Amino acid sequence: MTRTVKDFIRTIPDFPHEGIMFRDVTTLFADPQGFRMAVDQLVAPFAGQRIDKVVGLEARGFILGGAVAHQLSTGFVPVRKAGKLPGRVIGQDYTLEYGEARVELHDDAIQPGERVLVVDDLLATGGTAEAGIKLIERLGGEIAGCAFVIDLPELGGRDRLEKLGMSLVTLCA
Ligand code: 5GP
Repeated sequence: MTRTVKDFIRTIPDFPHEGIMFRDVTTLFADPQGFRMAVDQLVAPFAGQRIDKVVGLEARGFILGGAVAHQLSTGFVPVRKAGKLPGRVIGQDYTLEYGEARVELHDDAIQPGERVLVVDDLLATGGTAEAGIKLIERLGGEIAGCAFVIDLPELGGRDRLEKLGMSLVTLCA
């Protein structure tokens, strides 16, 4: 039987805290067929569109985003957790289930008018993606779309990003 992307992802109970069912994509990344399938499916909806940059969200978005950028022949730009980027940055705070977090982007990484594809492994509440989108838009970038391997729609991220007018690609729930 043909395997789907979902078949390569395992769920680890009680990680990183009790009660959390963690979707582990390392098994997807480790499999040559699975990894290629995921990257191909993330890229396909954007083939033929003008994309200038792929932005990957730390950390698994770097692995997927790098491969997607290569396939689309675009540059790759990281959105990182606070304090990791060496150059001048802009930052965006956002709310987590427990507490606050901050992500940063080099202030010269996106040029005004560039069309940007945002990539990450998983969409949960959408807080991380929305913070990344705000950073890109503050530099004048236009979001061409957001692509995730896993969507957990019950956590509200899909609704949240659709309300922002984002075009969303997700591969499995
Ligand atoms: P959100 O900001 O949408 O609530 O959470 C999404 C972010 O948290 C993504 O960067 C994603 O990598 C990470 N994340 C949250 N839960 C999981 C999970 O179960 N598995 C994986 N692989 N990442 C998760």
